[in-house]
This record gives sequence, C-alpha cells and structure tokens, in this order.
Amino acid sequence: MKLKRLPSEFPSGTSLILQPGWSGTLADDELDFIVTELRRRPGLRVTWGFKQKQQRFSREAIKHVALYGEPHAGNCSCEAK
Ligand SMILES: [Zn+2]
Repeated sequence: MKLKRLPSEFPSGTSLILQPGWSGTLADDELDFIVTELRRRPGLRVTWGFKQKQQRFSREAIKHVALYGEPHAGNCSCEAK
C-alpha cells in the first residue's frame, strides 16, 4: 500500500493502518506514524506485541507486525528465521 499523504490526514484510514497485519509493507511515513501512535497509546503497544510501558520500538519489529500481524516468534512464517 502506498499513501500519497500521511495517514493522519485520512481519519478513516488511521485506524486501519494501526491494525496489525493490515498494511503489509510500510512506507517510511506510515512507519513514522505508527511509531508516533505507539508512543502515546499504551493499549496500542500491547496490540502490537510491545510492553505496555515500552517507549522505544524497533522499526524492524513494527514492520514485522504490519506485515505478518504478529511479533516474530520461533514458529513464524517470515524469512527471518
Ligand atoms: Zn517472523
């Protein structure tokens, strides 16, 4: 998916991009948007497989959840075994 503007300018798209597994491969502005939202929403952190009090997020971890819908695990279907 490629957005022409930041997701924050699309109220209806904002909630969708924050759903794990929905957006697939993230553009840089989409990744930035998700990081911003993760920093201010504890519940969203849990949804994305982070700790509730976590404030630093690996961009690779975020990309993984966006693409596969869940954090990397031993039985993961991704290529980063
Ligand atoms: Zn994985």
